[in-house]
Amino acid sequence: PTVTPTNFIRNLVTEDLSAGRTGGRLATRFPPEPNGYLHIGHAKSICLNFGLARDFGGVCHLRFDDTNPAKEEMEYVQSILDTVRWLGFQWGDHLYYASDYFDRCYRYAEGLIEAGKAYVDELSAEEIRAFRGSLTEAGRPSPWRDRPVAENLDLFRRMRAGEFPDGRYLLRARIDMASPNLNLRDPALYRIRHVPHWRTGSTWCIYPMYDYAHAISDAEERITHSLCTLEFEDHRPLYDWVVANTPVPGQPHQYEFSRLNLSHTLMSKRKLLELVEEGRVSGWDDPRMPTLVGLRRRGYTPAAIRLFCERIGISKADSVIDYSVLEDCLRSDLNEHAPRRVAVLRPLRLVLDNFPAASVEQCSAPNHPQHAGWGERFLPLTRELFIERDDFMVEPVKGFFRLAPGKSVRLRYAYVITCTGFETDPVTGEVTVVHATCDMETRSGTAGADRVKVKGNIHWLSQTHSGEATVRLYERLFMDPNPAAAQDYRTLLNPHSMEELQVRVETTLMEEESTQVFQFERLGYFVQDIRDSGPGQRVFNRAVTLRDAWVR
Ligand code: ATP
Ligand code: MG
Ligand code: MG
Repeated sequence: PTVTPTNFIRNLVTEDLSAGRTGGRLATRFPPEPNGYLHIGHAKSICLNFGLARDFGGVCHLRFDDTNPAKEEMEYVQSILDTVRWLGFQWGDHLYYASDYFDRCYRYAEGLIEAGKAYVDELSAEEIRAFRGSLTEAGRPSPWRDRPVAENLDLFRRMRAGEFPDGRYLLRARIDMASPNLNLRDPALYRIRHVPHWRTGSTWCIYPMYDYAHAISDAEERITHSLCTLEFEDHRPLYDWVVANTPVPGQPHQYEFSRLNLSHTLMSKRKLLELVEEGRVSGWDDPRMPTLVGLRRRGYTPAAIRLFCERIGISKADSVIDYSVLEDCLRSDLNEHAPRRVAVLRPLRLVLDNFPAASVEQCSAPNHPQHAGWGERFLPLTRELFIERDDFMVEPVKGFFRLAPGKSVRLRYAYVITCTGFETDPVTGEVTVVHATCDMETRSGTAGADRVKVKGNIHWLSQTHSGEATVRLYERLFMDPNPAAAQDYRTLLNPHSMEELQVRVETTLMEEESTQVFQFERLGYFVQDIRDSGPGQRVFNRAVTLRDAWVR
């Protein structure tokens, strides 16, 4: 287990707990809105909130922030539950829905009206905006601001009863139209929306606004530390106002941290939904998506994502994390944990002319070079093989230590071979077959192995004893590091973000359906595609390349 590096929020929790400020309790929450799939930015918040609960003996609630009836769907709820669990976190008995608090939100709103702290406004949305003023201009009170309590109560009850169309009235907090903080200039608490809600059906036709419902949800659940991203900093006075002016049982405090921005991708659910709906990716779980279902399908492991969240840390400084940081975390995890296999992505035929045609030699290959206990499997060596097209050059450039006419290399786990010639396609000039002789004294693991020193060590598969599969190679979804800043991010999509190859793989990879991520030696880390790989057709996604494109 890794130790989470400390950060300002951890320090603050440590202080609060040791000073007994929260009665010795820690309760955090992760409050997704079920209007899309979780992305890597959400993972930062999940790891922070659940990680604190884990490390400080507290609890972390999973709460669906389902106050907006129009945009929410059951499909998203299920995926969010699965994904949080997949990341390795448990909410135990603490699964909540903001919609469970609709009754209380309503009652507390009546209480605010009775206390003269809320009123029913009937300015239009446009007028409200104009009256609110700006940072340089004080707000003006609505003509309805001093409506008598009894009239406010009557109107609010009739709003609830469904007597008015959407937008006709609005319940507003009565705070301070001159406040330098625009959020305190009589913010909206309730609006009319004649839209059924996926959980409460048509019980309600008025819905609480986010800031109001969120503060009440936190306080009802007796959350101690409500952690959110920096854009809510200006909302904190309103959060505190709601907690102070409603009869809620808890006293939560809000703290803000900077959100995750990742290069070469988008981090907004709205834009990710557009990519899906416009068919620019195959779905929310397209392996190029920054969604957690996409990363999972790509071959990312929960441990790699948790490591990433630890490495990037928590602060109040806005920054963009380079995508390579995420990739490095995956390599760190997989280098240690991924069994090794052999695949040939761009097969070129190699004939060992002195190797007996009927002969099959079993060559032992370890499943992991550092884990002897993981055992080995056997790669059948035959006269006709496949090697990578890139491992042969007719006229080798300087520093190319692989196969070329007259040059020798080791076939990994087998023999040293020497290239004696090659054949080309008479039309295209492309190399079609490479010929070599095998030095039968140099077999790996025997006394003769070191007899001949060679610099190159290439992988191979038997033409007859290997399987056919499909491999998908992925590149960044966007060519530009910051597509969100563009006028239209669509223009920055990388047209070459996926390449599909017909490849050869060792037969062990054909045998079963598995979510195991493998290192294909010298090529990168690959996992079977959970949607498209089946018994008839094996499809592998490249999760990430090895550190160096080619290890000699
Ligand atoms: P989006 O802008 O993508 O729609 P959101 O903030 O509206 O995201 P929510 O479902 O409300 O999405 O997010 C749930 C929690 O995840 C919130 O507490 C939010 O602060 C956090 N979160 C969302 N995006 C990020 C991010 N990029 N970095 C860190 N935390 C994030
Ligand atoms: Mg949100
Ligand atoms: Mg949002």
